Amino acid sequence: MVGLAMLSFCYALLMRSLQMTRWHEEAELVEVEDPVPGPGQVVVKVGGAGACHSDLHMMHGSGDNVPFSLPFTLGHENAGWVHTVGSGVTGLELGQPVAVYGAWGCGTCPRCSDGTENYCEDMPGLGAGPGLGMDGGMADYLLVPAARHLLPLPEGLTPAQAAPLVDAGLTPYHAVHRSLAKLGATSTAVVIGVGGLGHLAVQILKATSAAQVIAVDTRAQALELARSSGADLAITAGDAAAGEIRAATGGRGADVVLDFVGLDSTLALAASCARMLGDVTVVGVGGGTLPFSFLRPAYEVSVQSVYWGTRPELADVLALAARGLLRAETTTYPLDQALDAYRSLADGKIVGRAVIVPALVA
Ligand code: NAD
Ligand code: ZN
Ligand code: ZN
Repeated sequence: MVGLAMLSFCYALLMRSLQMTRWHEEAELVEVEDPVPGPGQVVVKVGGAGACHSDLHMMHGSGDNVPFSLPFTLGHENAGWVHTVGSGVTGLELGQPVAVYGAWGCGTCPRCSDGTENYCEDMPGLGAGPGLGMDGGMADYLLVPAARHLLPLPEGLTPAQAAPLVDAGLTPYHAVHRSLAKLGATSTAVVIGVGGLGHLAVQILKATSAAQVIAVDTRAQALELARSSGADLAITAGDAAAGEIRAATGGRGADVVLDFVGLDSTLALAASCARMLGDVTVVGVGGGTLPFSFLRPAYEVSVQSVYWGTRPELADVLALAARGLLRAETTTYPLDQALDAYRSLADGKIVGRAVIVPALVA
């Protein structure tokens, strides 16, 4: 009897976790010990973990320049329920639904102090976070190192619906937000790549600006999603795209171009269709480069890369979702089919976002 009790106690301490164990290879589903919160920490029962294309870059691209130590559990786009809290944690209730802000900075540098932990100055570069060097949410439970990373979910938003908002929503929100001054009623924004991030970028542009929104993708299904997300025009990527964008903007070009792919070809399209004084914002990590010369991009075009978003911006994103202005198109997968989700993403078969829901049974 005692032996059986001990055995079941041991099993209760194990959970499933999708871990990166080697660069250039698929992640592996393994069993690890349930996390236990230390002082100030919180364990979240995962209700949804989004499968981001960045994870594919880690599995199939070059991991050589990624400053993370292996192994770690994937999943940087998470929401769930407060499961256990460490000593000193206040303001959270057990079972409360929460979104997990994922850019885990030092918490005290000037950037972190105002919630801009995505640009923590004590952790330059990629920083750290769940699924990015630290254990993420592709598991039954997620250890969150500080309660400040948890934002309450608005009523009516389930963790599985909310998970994509933490990255696929927040990253485009940050990119759009910094260019809002250039997005008036006579302006045009171009979204290149209408996948997990891009389809939410289209919705965010429509919800927060009066600009015309043009979407570009290689896939017919993604262009259809762009239209249903509110795009005024959806254009097939290729040699004719720049001309079509110019034609739709009276020959002037786009005020803001957001590139969610980041290949040589998409960066070239972005540079060629950006209007004088416009913004080209590179979000995609496709590994491409953008040649720069006096005449291209056009005069006073600003080019910037962006990383994730701030904690106050995540609160804005959740508020947009609560008001029905932002809704991720999702396909859910059980945890033991997470690799199928990533394979479908790699094959261009996901429309919107794949979300891993650990409680689902295959
Ligand atoms: P996704 O696979 O869901 O979407 C990518 C979309 O781009 C797909 O619809 C695909 O059909 C389209 N596409 C591919 N090649 C194209 C081309 N040549 N022209 C036009 N469209 C093309 O990916 P995602 O999860 O939305 O991520 C998009 C990119 O953003 C990835 O590179 C990812 O690593 C990166 N990312 C960056 C940040 C950041 O903070 N900078 C955050 C999250 C994701
Ligand atoms: Zn991501
Ligand atoms: Zn910091």
